[in-house]
Amino acid sequence: MTGVAKQGCRPGCGACCIAPSISSPIPGMPDGKPAGVRCVQLTDDNLCRLFGDPARPAVCERFDYDRELCGDHREQALTLIASLETASST
Ligand code: SF4
Ligand code: SF4
Repeated sequence: MTGVAKQGCRPGCGACCIAPSISSPIPGMPDGKPAGVRCVQLTDDNLCRLFGDPARPAVCERFDYDRELCGDHREQALTLIASLETASST
């Protein structure tokens, strides 16, 4: 997720730390987070405070930049990830 210099990932985007639900515990959010809620570890600059920290959830490590989901800009990513979330929770 964010804070990673992955090819294509927009530093300071952070959409994948807001739009999806995360079921694994996050430091400060022991039950994970619901969809559409900002992760407490996301800084004001939309970077991950836990980048490189073993406490960072494995699911965050696994999330890769994906053009289909990340779109062309942050708002598009928020919408695309939110719609995927709705589709997968039904
Ligand atoms: S939504 Fe995509 S572009 Fe935005 S931070 Fe996550 S991986 Fe990077
Ligand atoms: S722990 Fe970091 S990478 Fe994972 S959702 Fe929170 S801010 Fe994003």
